[in-house]
Amino acid sequence: MTALGSPFEGRSIWFLTGSQDLYGEETLQQVAEQSGSVAAVLDEAEEIPVSIAWKPVLKDRDSIRRAALEANADPRCLGVIVWMHTFSPAKMWISGLTALDKPLLHLHTQAEAALPWSEIDMDFMNLNQAAHGDREFAYIASRTSIRRTTVVGHASDPRVRQKVGTWTRAAAGWDELRNLRLCRFGDNMRNVAVTEGDKTEAEIALGSSVNTWAVNDLVDRIAAVKDSEVEELLAEYDAAYDTAEELRPSGARRESLAYAARQEAGMRSFLTEGGFTAFTTNFEDLGGLRQLPGLAVQRLMADGYGFGAEGDWKTALLVRAAKVMGYGLPGGASLMEDYTYEMTPGKEKILGAHMLEICPSLTTSVPRLEIHPLGIGDREDPVRLVFDTDPGPGLVVAMSDMRERFRLTANVVDVVPPDAPLPNLPVARAVWEPRPDFATSAECWLTAGAAHHTVMTTAVGIEAFEMLAEIAGIELAVIDQDTTSRGFAQQLRWNAAYHRLAQGL
Ligand code: MN
Repeated sequence: MTALGSPFEGRSIWFLTGSQDLYGEETLQQVAEQSGSVAAVLDEAEEIPVSIAWKPVLKDRDSIRRAALEANADPRCLGVIVWMHTFSPAKMWISGLTALDKPLLHLHTQAEAALPWSEIDMDFMNLNQAAHGDREFAYIASRTSIRRTTVVGHASDPRVRQKVGTWTRAAAGWDELRNLRLCRFGDNMRNVAVTEGDKTEAEIALGSSVNTWAVNDLVDRIAAVKDSEVEELLAEYDAAYDTAEELRPSGARRESLAYAARQEAGMRSFLTEGGFTAFTTNFEDLGGLRQLPGLAVQRLMADGYGFGAEGDWKTALLVRAAKVMGYGLPGGASLMEDYTYEMTPGKEKILGAHMLEICPSLTTSVPRLEIHPLGIGDREDPVRLVFDTDPGPGLVVAMSDMRERFRLTANVVDVVPPDAPLPNLPVARAVWEPRPDFATSAECWLTAGAAHHTVMTTAVGIEAFEMLAEIAGIELAVIDQDTTSRGFAQQLRWNAAYHRLAQGL
């Protein structure tokens, strides 16, 4: 993911500490020093991918509101951590909290993990009272329905740092969605329901700008690509992949690979120029394209672009969000499609793939670069990368438009090797066992009306998506090892009522 750069570069999380004037200068000085130390521990934690910016201790309503407005106005600020080291009467926080437009993490901690039992006096008690100061804060945050993530524990605890780090990644995912521009090359596949959706609502609910460009604008751009750019890409392919004989420099079908390189260069320049970080294609609307873009889409996804096939912009948004949240972690993220099943009792698995477009970030192996016929799309044979997804923990997430809102459905899965090699399957794929088991997972997935297109991520887990959904205020229905069909169906009913009520009139 080099082309789009790091989503964490130059970004920070603000660290706000609450107190009040009552304590006197000496205690407030200690509060400042100790909260600075907590912020420094988080700043140095390698689990947290951005810097932590400590801010002066907040002691009154006006400074709290000002801090919130400054956080809102600073594009480098991904989110805000708050901690009440002492008691900070929370009516002072109402004006600031209700104005805050950035993700909020409530860190419930203390300066020191261990109590110095034999030395504790009332000065110590006065200074170290997050145990009730944070309860006062949480009361007003709950009363004003402020969405937040609460993390409890000492900053030295790896579990705490991990959780703050995951939340930071979710905040970066949200920042990306709110600024995202998505380019649709053509419209949706005709008559398909689940890939449709309300693009205006996407801008309202997520902040993402979803618009369509004519495929032939892209065709023109591809035609304008210089031969030297094509040659450079071909050399890159030759070095990077296990290339089929016919696509090699003297191979009979080298020209097909050259056209795929031209497609990649043209698409990349179109996306770069428009400031797009996600895009869709549609095999029914290929205009003057000679091949359905396979290799080009796979390589753009590997560089960090979100992608959805058949015009599926909702999945493209999810792929991009997962790329941002997982940036720098082992594993990857890709468009995925539930394709076919191993249904033999005791061996149940899902074989996922797409016509071409699975992201090679899902493998650490060297992909094979191949060319095969494709019945669909009515164009020349497309080149594509073929590989098996690395086994390990994974997650699939789908977005459905439920008319008045978007619903995310997620399934925690285990990616496994295929039961046998797949020598005749000419596309990249993943094989997985869904939790808690195949039948429960599929039953719940169908009950939720979740899509056949998903993002598969092997870089971040369910916690990142739970935090993202909390920040965004959108529904997330989770299928994991604890899920039962009955409980899940009930949860969907409650969710439907909650999310309709939460929207107001
Ligand atoms: Mn599809």
